[in-house]
Amino acid sequence: MSNQFSVTNPATGEVIKKVKIDAEEEIKQKLEMGHKAFKEWAKVNAHERSRLLQKWSDKVKENKQEIAEIMTKENGKPLHESLGEVNYATSYIDWYAEEAKRIYGRTIPANTESKRIIVSRQPVGLVAAITPWNFPAAMMTRKAAPALAAGCTFIVKPAAETPLTAIRIIELAHKAGIPEETVQYVNTHGSIAGDLFTQSEYVRKITFTGSTPVGKTLIQKSADSIQHVTMELGGHAPLIVAEDADLDFAVQQTIATKFRNAGQTCVCANRLIIHEHVAEEFAKKLAEEVEKLKVGNGMDEGTDIGPIINKKGYDKIVDQVKDAVEKGAEVLVGDQYHADDNKGFYFVYPTVLKNVDDRMKIMHEETFGPVAPMTTFRELEEAVEIANSTPYGLAAYFFTNDYRTGTYLHDHLDFGIIGWNDGGPSAAHAPFGGMKESGLGREGGIEGIEPYLETKYLSIGNI
Ligand code: NAD
Repeated sequence: MSNQFSVTNPATGEVIKKVKIDAEEEIKQKLEMGHKAFKEWAKVNAHERSRLLQKWSDKVKENKQEIAEIMTKENGKPLHESLGEVNYATSYIDWYAEEAKRIYGRTIPANTESKRIIVSRQPVGLVAAITPWNFPAAMMTRKAAPALAAGCTFIVKPAAETPLTAIRIIELAHKAGIPEETVQYVNTHGSIAGDLFTQSEYVRKITFTGSTPVGKTLIQKSADSIQHVTMELGGHAPLIVAEDADLDFAVQQTIATKFRNAGQTCVCANRLIIHEHVAEEFAKKLAEEVEKLKVGNGMDEGTDIGPIINKKGYDKIVDQVKDAVEKGAEVLVGDQYHADDNKGFYFVYPTVLKNVDDRMKIMHEETFGPVAPMTTFRELEEAVEIANSTPYGLAAYFFTNDYRTGTYLHDHLDFGIIGWNDGGPSAAHAPFGGMKESGLGREGGIEGIEPYLETKYLSIGNI
């Protein structure tokens, strides 16, 4: 087995950099160092931790352009999206720099005069994170920032496709004054990190963002040592357009949620469920707008849709579209490809499919590509049934200006994140996460620091 990862540019197939793979012994040493550093970091007072986090965020902002270019080169997303992701990533550091100062305990009235009951919070210990390639900055900072704010030490294994962004951001944490052993990274294969992290006596919490099958194996493996777990897993988001919706606005927001990062996002709309009375008009407007999206290298000005991350991802998209078309779906725009196995790049042109139904894979599997499949509904109950007919429960969207329709959909959709007339609900100050097989726990908001804290209860007697 090679002891290096070749990080390639998915837009060209060229190798950008080779990254050394850490040997198992080195990873174990880093875990031990992280554990030892915990004793010191947990003692640093909350205001100082807050100040260091703020300094880290400032350093990332100062180097925003450089980080965004690294990201576009290793991930492929358009440069303006990478710049947006760096902002999004620092918004988590900013938010948790503030939350560090708000980790409150409480007192509980006792049932006797001779007792006092005090509840305090303390950091869980060393946190081990595994992150995906699709948001290489933000998926890391939304774990690292609350962990460090809580007083935990942190170690991350970034995705092999996109380690460079995370490495650069961690270097900047050290430059900001956060000790090296307090926030670390390792480069290795996913399954090796999974085994070493879950078997380590030093790791008290596993936090993972990635696919549902890998999340399930990590939950199983972490059972032996009863580690805390947070799981941000796959999604299959429905997007419902009601009869009364503002169609132009709904089209604009559908494009924002569906085609960002070439559709390679866990919360992107995967199934468009449109009221039958407006389906024709919505489809026409959507196809017109989608046709304008420019496919290309993310470094080129004006690019809207970058490459697919790799051949595996590309093959899955092509297979889902082929399956849908064979079973009767109509292509309104797209179903075009630009790929080269020898060079190693894979582009999918943004695609809109009509007359999609339940027999098609695309209605059941996460697509992770720029394909928008449309189906129709007549009654709201039917829309909810289609939307909920998935083991996933991450994000859902709906468009209506009728408060009864909106309230009904909010009440009946089994998803952790709901956008009502909003194609971009994610924010550092709100709890992000899924129900069912989309995960466990939340990241962001006041909820996002909870998983890094233990509750300790003190009962003082004989007063
Ligand atoms: P993936 O599960 O293949 O990989 C994610 C990470 O896990 C990578 O770092 C990878 O190296 C590592 N990994 C792979 N096999 C492993 C194993 N056996 N044990 C431990 N770690 C292992 O997922 P991906 O293809 O990189 O990312 C896409 C998936 O991530 C999609 O399903 C997407 O929906 C999900 N995702 C979820 C969220 C969320 O917040 N819910 C955000 C982004 C992506």
